[in-house]
Amino acid sequence: MSAAASMKIGVDVPWISSWSLEQQTGVSPCPSVDGQLAAGQQIKPGAGEPLYARAHLFRQRKSVREMRCPMCGEQTPDDDRWTRTARPTTAGTLRAKGLGPTLPADMPDDQSLLDCGTIAPMHRACAESASGLAHLADMNDRELRRFPKAWIIVPLWIEARSPNPQAKSVAVVSFLQLLGVED
Ligand SMILES: [Zn+2]
Repeated sequence: MSAAASMKIGVDVPWISSWSLEQQTGVSPCPSVDGQLAAGQQIKPGAGEPLYARAHLFRQRKSVREMRCPMCGEQTPDDDRWTRTARPTTAGTLRAKGLGPTLPADMPDDQSLLDCGTIAPMHRACAESASGLAHLADMNDRELRRFPKAWIIVPLWIEARSPNPQAKSVAVVSFLQLLGVED
C-alpha cells in the first residue's frame, strides 16, 4: 500500500487539492459557473499522489460559489468562516491594478476588502487542524481572521486554444477569486 492510499481527505490532504491522476480535460460548459466555458479536470480524489499546492479546478470553483471549506469540503455557515491567507486591501487599490470592472461601480475607493485569492474561508476547526499540516506550515504565523458577511466573486480567465490552429482562442474560466467586503 502506498503512503497516499492511507491519507484521509479532509484530514491529511485538503479536499480542494488535486491528485496526480486527476488529469485536465479541456474546456466545456461547467455548472460551477452557470454553464460558462471553464477549464475542466477529471474528478478522482484519492487517485495517485496528492498535489497539495495545486487546487482542483472544479472543486476550487465549487468551494467559492458554494462557500465550501477548502479543507473538509462541507459548506461553512455565516458565523463560522475564517481565513488565514487573505490580504486586506481596498476597492481603490484593486481599481489601480485594473480590477475595477469586477467591482460594483458605486463601491467607494476606501471600501475595505479582504482579498482571499482563490482560497475560500474555512471552518474554524478546519483552519486550526490545517495549520498543523507540514505542507501548510508557512500559514502558521498568520492571524486567523473572520471572513465578512458579504463578498464578490471574480472569475479568473485564461485563453484556451483550439487544436485547430485556424480557430481563434477562447476565454474560459479557470479559478474563481474571492473578495470579502468588510462592514
Ligand atoms: Zn471544514
